Formats: sequence, structure tokens, C-alpha cells
Amino acid sequence: MQADILDRDIKFLPGMGPKRSELFNKELDIKTFRDLLYYFPYKHVDRTRFYKISQVSGDLPYIQLEGLIKRVELAGSGRNKRLTAIISDGTGNLELVWFRGLRWINDLVKPGKNFIVYGKPTIFNNKVNLVHPEMEDPDKQEKTINAALQSFYNTSEKLKNSFITSRVISKLQNKLLNLIYGKIEESLPGELINRLGLLNINDALLNIHFPQGTGELKKAEARLKFEELFYLQLKILRQKTGRNHKIKGFVFTRVGELLNSFYHNHLPFELTSAQKRVLREIRKDMGSGKQMNRLLQGDVGSGKTLVAVMSMLIAVDNGYQACLMAPTEILASQHYSTLSKILKELPVTTGLLTGSTRKKARKILHEQLKSGELDMLIGTHALIEEVVQFKKLGLVVIDEQHRFGVAQRARMWKKSNNPPHMLVMTATPIPRTLAMTVYGDLEISVIDELPPGRKSILTAHYFDTKRERLFGFIRKQIALGRQIYIVYPLISESEKMDYKDLEDGYESISRAFPPPDYVVAIVHGKMKQDVKEIGMQQFISGTAQILVATTVIEVGVDVPNATVMVIESAERFGLSQLHQLRGRVGRGAEQSYCILMTSHKISNEARQRIKTLTGTTDGFEIAEADLKLRGPGDMEGTMQSGFPFELKIANLARDNKILEYARQQAMSILDRDPLLEKPENIMFSQQLERLHPEIEDWSKIS
Ligand code: ADP
Ligand code: MG
Repeated sequence: MQADILDRDIKFLPGMGPKRSELFNKELDIKTFRDLLYYFPYKHVDRTRFYKISQVSGDLPYIQLEGLIKRVELAGSGRNKRLTAIISDGTGNLELVWFRGLRWINDLVKPGKNFIVYGKPTIFNNKVNLVHPEMEDPDKQEKTINAALQSFYNTSEKLKNSFITSRVISKLQNKLLNLIYGKIEESLPGELINRLGLLNINDALLNIHFPQGTGELKKAEARLKFEELFYLQLKILRQKTGRNHKIKGFVFTRVGELLNSFYHNHLPFELTSAQKRVLREIRKDMGSGKQMNRLLQGDVGSGKTLVAVMSMLIAVDNGYQACLMAPTEILASQHYSTLSKILKELPVTTGLLTGSTRKKARKILHEQLKSGELDMLIGTHALIEEVVQFKKLGLVVIDEQHRFGVAQRARMWKKSNNPPHMLVMTATPIPRTLAMTVYGDLEISVIDELPPGRKSILTAHYFDTKRERLFGFIRKQIALGRQIYIVYPLISESEKMDYKDLEDGYESISRAFPPPDYVVAIVHGKMKQDVKEIGMQQFISGTAQILVATTVIEVGVDVPNATVMVIESAERFGLSQLHQLRGRVGRGAEQSYCILMTSHKISNEARQRIKTLTGTTDGFEIAEADLKLRGPGDMEGTMQSGFPFELKIANLARDNKILEYARQQAMSILDRDPLLEKPENIMFSQQLERLHPEIEDWSKIS
């Protein structure tokens, strides 16, 4: 390939210079012409408009005006030193203020000179002024590309201190485009551009920085968003096709004794049709000769555990071992006891391995795993350890998978010479756009139906002042024989303040619900495992009517008799966490309730979260709201494993149509040429090599 002009170092851009280019490197990670061109503005403002000073008020956004400098004054001393200038345009006077770069400004801004001024009006001492406006000499105004809209670029504090403002960046973009417009190599095939009616790359880049009009800007955005999402999808899906090409999966053809016997004789209840469908999908995968990589999404309480158990039985039926990994000890032990119970009558051996498994028991487990004596292992992160070796591991199930990092999941691949089938489960519904990107290389199954007889949970918001009423309600529920969760936020397990809240809460609840009529148990992350276990058991067995806890109970805990979930300081929880917590109730046949307690002073965003939660119990709807409120980078379910890539222009909360479309296009190309080997697809493989090196390829890890 000929040297691409876009790969040129930005220090060679006229007007840039070595010092600035270093700052661009360090502060914005901009190293080449391409990096600069693809540094897109975060907003566009109509720049054809000039304001008159008489029109300026404190509530305007960025404005532009032209006037004559009347006076310049240095005032204050030390840190309070500032430079003020009065500018006038015949309709009035306006004060301009600077706190930094005074010497430079002082040299530039002289009385009697005309300036074009850009800035955001603010009010200080009842007077409107512009702080740190950008100043441009109208006579020296650089010949910029004509544009109907002015682009605004993010800068950093360091850049601003070196006078690299949004406007300076715009000027550099202008220089760059003057230099290379028309010479930028097309990055999408002509066929695709024609068929989809996209703007060509030269005009797209020109119009994103210097829009000729709002219509052109829209077209430029559409083209660049499509390109970004298309290559992202192509990369993700190409990895999947490559993986399927390279790795042969264990073939589980047998629907053996175990599954049959379980299905016909030991199934505790009729499967929902969603559970049946998902099981069919899993069976098909595991019998296909491909290695399964499937994400199972199902709202809390939708019955994922049963699907996991039955998938594990298929593995054992085919002569393989299976394991189930959960993020907390509580959850792992609960899974272990569920499995032991429902598999009691079957000839399957199960074991539990967690951080607190005693050394001796651990050793025995290790040996049984290696010899193949043990069919199923349930546990926590302890399963990942090197010493845990299987004889013939065929299936790995990971529960609440978002609690594990990508690397941790990948390490389970190595537990077998040939990668085992993977089933990763989550109760955090993932909006479709995220599922297609963050988990775009996995097959996806959804349990979209709750077991029959569930009543939808009623959710209410109480202010702290209604605590008496809350206690009254709890007493009534306990009188009906129900159990209550009361959860306190513990943002960081080490925060003293949070523990104080929890302990104070526990005390006041114990006072309001005294023995011998009531038993209040408490569980939190700082407790020793065995103490925690005792608290948990008190609640599970029904001895304790109230469980005061932190979010350690968030995932998976299953006590069908619990009907009330009280969440203290609910404003401090994220949406999906609130939804998860709420999912701890509503598991039995009785009407369940979730009560969100907050103080009167809560932020608008918190109010919005609470409104969403009281308004719906649909996990997908909540996830969509979460995505819109917080943006993809902060979403739970992606945060823990790290949002794996950065998008420069597309927005996963808004651009779902473009994404959907881009994915279709990428799929149809890979259908015809799975490894992108055909000559007409060479452009794709070249682009992919450059793009998103941060996306890990699972098949390369093993
Ligand atoms: P989750 O998907 O949140 O992990 P679980 O697997 O813990 O949900 O199941 C929630 C509850 O629903 C459990 O008590 C389980 O026994 C019960 N359950 C699962 N499947 C069914 C079904 N088909 N019919 C009735 N109850 C079911
Ligand atoms: Mg579960």
C-alpha cells in the first residue's frame, strides 16, 4: 500500500510546530493527520450570527460579537490578578476578563483596536461579562473554509493554558483540510457508498469540521457514524468467524439418561416456553461441532439456574465435566444446595469450591476433579486458580457474568486442551445496541418470560420522614408470615461512613422490632464468611423475619417467602442495581413490594432513576433508560469488564438504527467471505488491522 498521507506526523502540519504537536500527543492522543481529522467537534454553533452588545444577557450560550476596545486595565495582585478590557460596538459596553495568560493578552488587546470576540456571557456582581473570550483580529482573520456552522472541540486545562483553544484546533483542522481535501483515500468500498447513498470520505470530513449547512452536517455525521459502527461490527464478527474456523467444539450429541431422567422425573415444575426455547438453542450449539459462546440474558427470577443445570447435565451425559462459577460465596453455596437438592436422585457427583473451602476438602476436590470422579463443580473465583484441573471439562457456566472481567472468563478457556463450551448468564438486561457491540461476538439467548403465577412487584418511593409508616407496613407483612429485606448502600466496602449508616440502621430496626417477637439478622461484606453464613441461614430458614444487609445480597439470593425489599438511601444506587435488588422479592406467589427510601434532597438524575423504577418492572426498559441517563461507558454490565472500545462519533444510546444496519452489512459480507480473504475485500482487512486494537480476541487468549 502506498504511504497514506493520513499517517503523516502532525508535527509536519504547517502552523503546528514541535511544542504544540507534543501537547496534542500527550493530551489528546493525536499523533497523525488522521488522528486530528478524526478528532470531531462535540457541537456546532451557527457562526453567521453576530450579536449586538445591547442584546447580550447572562443566559445566552456562546456568542460572537465585534467591537472596539476602549480600555484595558490590570487589577488585583497575586492570585487575584486579572486583566479587564471594555469593548464597545455603539449599542453598549461589555467587560472582558482574563485571569491567566495576562502578559500575552495585554500585548494583543490594545485600546483602539477592533476585535471579533467569542465567549459565553456570565454574570458577576450583577454585570454581564465574558471570561476568557477568544479574540480575533478581523483584519488578520485567517482565510478559513467557509462554513455555516462553527465547530467546537474539547480541549484540556493544559491545552488551554498553552492557548490551544477550540478555535485554535479549528484553525488547524482548516489548515489540514486545505492541504489534503480531495486526497483522502476512501475508506469504504464504492459499491457500499453508492448503494447506501453515503457521502464520500472527503466531503464527510470537510463537513463535519466545516459544515456547509445543517443538511450537509447531518449527511457527514451519518456517513461517519456508519463507518465507525460498520468497522466495529466487522471486527467483532470477524473474530467470531475466525474463532469458529480455528476451534472445533466438543460435540454433545447424546441426550442421555441424566437429562431424560431429570426432565421426566425430577423437574420441580413445568419449564416456561422461554426456558425450553433457550435450552433448544444451547443444545443445538453444543451439538454443532462449534464451540458455544452464548450469553443468556434473563431478568431476575426468570429461571436461569434451571437452564444452567440442564445444560450441565447434557455435558455429563456426554462424558464430560461441567462447572458453574458465581461471583459471591453466598450465591455459590446457594447454587450448590439447589443443585444438590434437585439432582439428589440422580447419579451425578457435585462439589463446592470457594475461598473458604478448607485445605483438606480442597485437596480432595482437586483430586476428584482430575480423576474425573467429580461431574460438576460449583464455586467462586476459586475455580479459576491454576491448581484447579479437570479431567475433561466440557462446559463452563458463568453466573452474573458481568461481575467477572473478560480476562477471568478467558482463563476458564484454558481449563481444557480444547476450549469448553461457554454459557455466560446475566440478570442485568443489556440494551440491544450494547449487546450487539460489547457482546457482539457471542450468540445471545433471552428468557423473556417469568415463571407463571408471579405477581408484579409494587414499587413506592418514601421520604425518610415516613419511616413510622414504613415500620407499620413491615409489621403487617411480618404478621402475614412474610420476610423483609432492608438494604443499605455500601459504595465502597471500606467506607466508615457507610458502615455507620448500616449499623445505626440495624440498631434502630432492632429497637423497633425487638425480641422475642422478632429476629433481625445482619449480613455485610466485612463479616467473616462463617458469621455471614449464620446471618444468611437465619433468614433463609425463616428464623429471622428481617435481614439487614448491604448489596452482598444483590445477586441471585433466592428466598421466595421474602416479599418486601426496603432500599435505604435509594438515591445512591444506580438503576440496574436497584432493579437487581428489587428482583430479590416477588419470587413466590404472594404480592411483593419494593420501597425506595430517600431524603428530601436528591438530584434530578436520582429523581429520574426513582421515577423509572416506580414506573416499570421491565428490565429491558430500565436498561434502556439507564443507557440514556448514563451513557454506555458507565453502564453496569459493561463497566466492570471495562467498556472495551471508544466511539468517536456514534452514540449507542441513540444510533441504534445505524448500528442495526451496519451489523447487517457486516454480516452479509462475512457470510460470503468469512475470513475476508477475497481480493475485493482487501480494503476491509486492511482497515481492521488499524482499528480497535483494544478489542481482545478470545481465541488468541487460549
Ligand atoms: P434467575 O434467573 O434470577 O437466576 P432463578 O433461577 O433463581 O432465577 O429462579 C427463580 C425462582 O424461580 C427459583 O425459585 C426457581 O426455583 C423458580 N423457577 C425457575 N423456573 C421455574 C419454572 N419453570 N416454573 C416455576 N418456577 C420456576
Ligand atoms: Mg440467578
